[in-house]
Amino acid sequence: MNSIPFEQGPIRPVDEADSLLIRTTRGCPWNRCTFCSLYKDMKFSLRTVEEIKKDILSAQAYFDGHPFETCFLQDGDSFVMKTKDLLYVLTALKEAFPSLKRISSYGRAQTMVKKTPADMKEICDAGLNKLYCGMESGSLKVLEKVKKGITPESIITSARMAADVGMDTTQFIILGLGGTELSDIHAMETAKVLNIINPNHIRLLTIGVKPGSGLDRQMAEKTFTLPTETQMIAEQRLLLSTLDGITSHYANHHSVDLLLEVRGQLPQDKDRLLTVLDQFLSLNEADQIHFILGRRLGYYRNLADMGNEFICGRAGQKNQAEPSRFL
Ligand code: SF4
Repeated sequence: MNSIPFEQGPIRPVDEADSLLIRTTRGCPWNRCTFCSLYKDMKFSLRTVEEIKKDILSAQAYFDGHPFETCFLQDGDSFVMKTKDLLYVLTALKEAFPSLKRISSYGRAQTMVKKTPADMKEICDAGLNKLYCGMESGSLKVLEKVKKGITPESIITSARMAADVGMDTTQFIILGLGGTELSDIHAMETAKVLNIINPNHIRLLTIGVKPGSGLDRQMAEKTFTLPTETQMIAEQRLLLSTLDGITSHYANHHSVDLLLEVRGQLPQDKDRLLTVLDQFLSLNEADQIHFILGRRLGYYRNLADMGNEFICGRAGQKNQAEPSRFL
């Protein structure tokens, strides 16, 4: 296949693997979060509607009638576009790809609250009916510490604005984001906000520290202490046990997460998910380390694999050979 003749951004959500990708903006209009280096060296810019329309027509020719049902608008925040421009792009997309049922985008809370309810309705009616929102935490202290540039109030207001017009929303949470210093407050205040907004989907990610990032510097300055994997599972247990009265789908969703089997529908699966977390937390320290190493080296997919003698034996040999990579 020839190289793609239209512009593509660097990432898309895991759930958008089969989607048409159309780039509306380049980079992130905020670009200051201490834990994120995704667009670090990229200057943010809005693409013109003419450029985007040209890409849509190139994509239409390139994919030659492929019946895409989903499209994701890249990069960091399409809501930063003027509403009339966003509507123009959505209309052009639906004309070029009439099979589209869902168009999605990242949406920053602080940008979305600048739209009016009427804008949100028009945007949703024009086809942008799914949002991916990186709230990361519901704690103001944590959000300020990592320079996220949003507040619990803006998270709640923007989530309500989206829900009121019928947009499906996914909220991303980052385990470990408060460090050991703010772990409990991160878990409890995040649950408190989630209990208010009741998003369609809650997706958990696990913190990683990129060399040279603001978080890396905070660690060097000893203002942020990275929790251990076990501490992050305990944090997740506190968060999940504090969720109450909501009907979200809850999942550890990314390969960076230790326990991928923590995935289910609230409220009916809550006890089952808590049991998985408790199973891990009740292991003795040696078995926890064995599982973490086996999981990170790719031998284990879930806790139940530890009961498989063959996999467990192979993971044990490998762990003895390579423990220093992870300890
Ligand atoms: S708003 Fe999102 S994309 Fe932008 S710097 Fe923060 S985490 Fe990264």
